[in-house]
Amino acid sequence: MITFSKKEQKIIKQLDELKQKSGSHSPSIITIADKIPEINVLVDACFLSNPYATDVFLEYFKRELIDTNKLRDFLEFYPSQNEIIAELLGSHLKIDHRNILVGNGATELIQAILHNFTSGKVLVNIPTFSPYYEFVKNKEKIIYNTLTEENNFKLDISSYIKLVKKEKPDTVVIINPNNPDGSYITYNEMKHLIEEIKDVENIIIDESFIHFAYEDTTFELKTVTGLIGQYPHLIVLKSMSKDFGIAGIRAGYVVMDKRKVEKLLQNGYLWNSNGLAEYFFRLYARKDFLKEYEKARVKYIQETHTFFSALSHIPGLKVIPSMANFALVKLKDDTKASILAQKLLISQGIHVRNCDDKIGLVGEYIRIASRTRQENKLIIKALRNIFDKNYEYKREKEISIV
Ligand SMILES: *Cc1c(COP(=O)(O)O)cnc(C)c1O
Repeated sequence: MITFSKKEQKIIKQLDELKQKSGSHSPSIITIADKIPEINVLVDACFLSNPYATDVFLEYFKRELIDTNKLRDFLEFYPSQNEIIAELLGSHLKIDHRNILVGNGATELIQAILHNFTSGKVLVNIPTFSPYYEFVKNKEKIIYNTLTEENNFKLDISSYIKLVKKEKPDTVVIINPNNPDGSYITYNEMKHLIEEIKDVENIIIDESFIHFAYEDTTFELKTVTGLIGQYPHLIVLKSMSKDFGIAGIRAGYVVMDKRKVEKLLQNGYLWNSNGLAEYFFRLYARKDFLKEYEKARVKYIQETHTFFSALSHIPGLKVIPSMANFALVKLKDDTKASILAQKLLISQGIHVRNCDDKIGLVGEYIRIASRTRQENKLIIKALRNIFDKNYEYKREKEISIV
């Protein structure tokens, strides 16, 4: 039984107000710190990023921009135009740059695609990343396909193909690995699926978490970006926010048919990347940076694996198998997700995602991101303190109410 003191109850009221204002997303850590200074966030396990990748980026940023005073150039002058950054990416991805559009975060591109290329007959698997239905103009035409807990939220490929053939949507959206559950479709399954539905006008594959997925111990990256030549209806979206840990600079891109890229470029998107995003994309195309990043990626995947395993041993929790850097956790024994998330935040300074607003999720779920090894330990300790009766809690850091 989770209980709250009077003081905690007051903070919960303030938190509820902030959440109301954030719609279907969570208030940022900066907003929480600004509005409710009583909460001291020690671990942000709500946002889904690789902290080691941020470290790699910051090392380059400091060495090449701050220490040299070149930062000024990136702030004072205009960044390159969209097509120039696309050229840079194209040579790195080995794809014709005319197939690439760069976005101010992938969210901007999701909006551009849904507003320009779809009539609204969109097939969306739920639970999902909410812009995929929120940004659709003709919402009454959206078709929802519910992923089920019995199947660990994994897409059933053969029934999905049947559904597409029956409903004839003009757009399908598949996030791989999926947010918020981390379920993964292997490269071969995905290829088969795309072949079967290749006539659908817009086949959106969102690979924003693909750098966390792996199929064997080589941890080799498995992306369908290279299939664009074979399947002109394919639209591969990539946010750099999560696996490169740089949500604040807003960087993403999409690989799709040249005509689609051209149509959007005619509408705008000229200088939609900022100077820091351009700097990041220049790094992303560099071998030395990628070598450093690769180390951070593999280390993080391995630690994430250890973290999930520790989570799954805590009584009262069911951890859904995940190929992403977060786990969807079902709460057994009548624990409410909202209450647990509030308790973790207020009394332990650990911010997790309460998923009770996610459409398509029935039951009580929270989503927990993997962080650094040290932070993951704090998360495990806090959860054991709540759920494991045999666990003797020793406080290492000061608790968060100041
Ligand atoms: C976070 C997220 C995005 C958007 O990220 P940006 O920060 O806008 O680049 C897109 N797709 C999925 C599945 C996401 O989780």
